Amino acid sequence: MKKYFVLFCLCALLLSNCKDKKEENGKLNIVTTTSMITDLVNNIGGDSINVQGLMGSGVDPHLYKASEGDVSKLVNADIIFYNGLHLEGKLVEVFEKMGSATKTPIALADEIDETTLIGSDYFASSYDPHVWFDIDYFKQFAEKVAIVLSEKDPENKAVFEANKVSYISELEMLQNKVKSVIETLPKEKRILVTAHDAFNYFGKAYGFEVVGLQGLSTATEAGVQDVQKLATFIIEKQIKAIFVESSVPKRTIEALQAAVKSKGHDVEIGGTLYSDALGNAGTFEGTYIGMFDYNVNTIVNALK
Ligand SMILES: [Zn+2]
Repeated sequence: MKKYFVLFCLCALLLSNCKDKKEENGKLNIVTTTSMITDLVNNIGGDSINVQGLMGSGVDPHLYKASEGDVSKLVNADIIFYNGLHLEGKLVEVFEKMGSATKTPIALADEIDETTLIGSDYFASSYDPHVWFDIDYFKQFAEKVAIVLSEKDPENKAVFEANKVSYISELEMLQNKVKSVIETLPKEKRILVTAHDAFNYFGKAYGFEVVGLQGLSTATEAGVQDVQKLATFIIEKQIKAIFVESSVPKRTIEALQAAVKSKGHDVEIGGTLYSDALGNAGTFEGTYIGMFDYNVNTIVNALK
């Protein structure tokens, strides 16, 4: 009799370990990397999940290294969502070490049709990872998050589905708004010069020529030649404003402004754009939708 009891306990223990959710308060524990993905997962999961985002506002994902605290969050998570395409360059190794059948971190960018991605020599993935700047891609992220949450927590499937539908309709409203704001800027003025090449997908989707001073990753610094070449380009194209990014030090763009000035011209700093991280939590720019809206208005107002 006792033997069976021990067997029963062992099975129960194994089962409870396999049951990958709902330990403390009956909610899935989810870990996310960038603030864009944290906001998205919060929108789809609502009160039915716990979300811990590793990267706050102003944090550069290209350079981000996991702390010990992060590793324990990752180990205890039911699901891990990240961008992928080597955006989180230094986290990939941690993910690879943790890889197990029950908890494979989910790279949302894997959802996107590869043939539509913008190529890049800077990243091990060979693609530009800044895909969230095309709202259509972000909608695909939303679809995937809803599917994964529903698989892990089928009881709340209807909630996740309803949240997804309403969030996607907000994204569609955002898309329409963005297009109509951009319409007010003459086509020849749609040239976006920023600190690093985060806005190529934005440019492709919404009709801007995009030039980043630093390559695609902030891990490589811009050289003096790049600055001089870009200064000449700004003067030739009569570009009114260039932009700082919240997650990249200002000095690169200030050096460019100084180079334009040394050639006898002026270019304004048109404002700070949110590129690889959202604004402070609790503010409008602390959401994906608010960030996008703010960026587009800042760009269009400064370039007009
Ligand atoms: Zn970036």
